[in-house]
Amino acid sequence: MEPRGLYDKYIVQKANGETTDPDARYFVLRLDTDVHARRAAHAYIASVWKANPALAGGLASLLAGLPSLVEAACGHTVPIGETVLLRPDLCRLCLTCYAKFQDGTAPKEEA
Ligand SMILES: [Zn+2]
Repeated sequence: MEPRGLYDKYIVQKANGETTDPDARYFVLRLDTDVHARRAAHAYIASVWKANPALAGGLASLLAGLPSLVEAACGHTVPIGETVLLRPDLCRLCLTCYAKFQDGTAPKEEA
């Protein structure tokens, strides 16, 4: 499936119940599964640490508590717990691709 690109995936509201600025623009990142989001978060920490060390430290702690992401043989980057090791030497698939592999819907490699 092709990635969708930028679209309105989330509705943002303030946790304290205040209304958001109607002119504000937000960009939500999913840190537990998206390696690109993690890179962005690390860049944000580097940028904000001087102005707001508590925010930088809190975000760094959040990242440190997340499971490591691995690039599986199928090309997907996922938490290591969401992979299946097919061969002890190197071949690891994400759970989605492993399910397709199991039910035979995965595309076969050319011989
Ligand atoms: Zn996969």
